[in-house]
Amino acid sequence: MDESTPAPAERTEDEWRSILSEEEYHILRERGTEPKFSGELLDVDEPGRFRCAGCGAVLFESDTKYGSNSGWPSFYDVVDAGAVETAVDDRHGMQRIEVTCGTCGGHLGHVFDDGPEPTGKRYCINSVALEFDPADGSEPE
Ligand code: FE
Repeated sequence: MDESTPAPAERTEDEWRSILSEEEYHILRERGTEPKFSGELLDVDEPGRFRCAGCGAVLFESDTKYGSNSGWPSFYDVVDAGAVETAVDDRHGMQRIEVTCGTCGGHLGHVFDDGPEPTGKRYCINSVALEFDPADGSEPE
């Protein structure tokens, strides 16, 4: 990361606007949701890691990704306990648990209790909020 760029958690909204695409800004900073079944990473099933599109922190690994048929990339666990934070989200007349990046605070998606074993969790994450690093030896961009 460019050393002149402030630490992710310290960035102003103007800085985020200059770093992120319009779509990324909408999801990560305005807590948006991409249309279901639109995500580029929805059907990725090769080995690798999923990083935050805002700050690059590793959030999920491919071995916990599964086909939930919800229309968004779904994982049954996070890479480690501090990778994400959760909070109650009362918007849109629902009570959901929002998932944000533990490093930059960007909105990622929501977590539900209808996932598979062993956790029973479904982390339902916007594809736009993630970047995929394949584990096949190719360098991350
Ligand atoms: Fe982040």
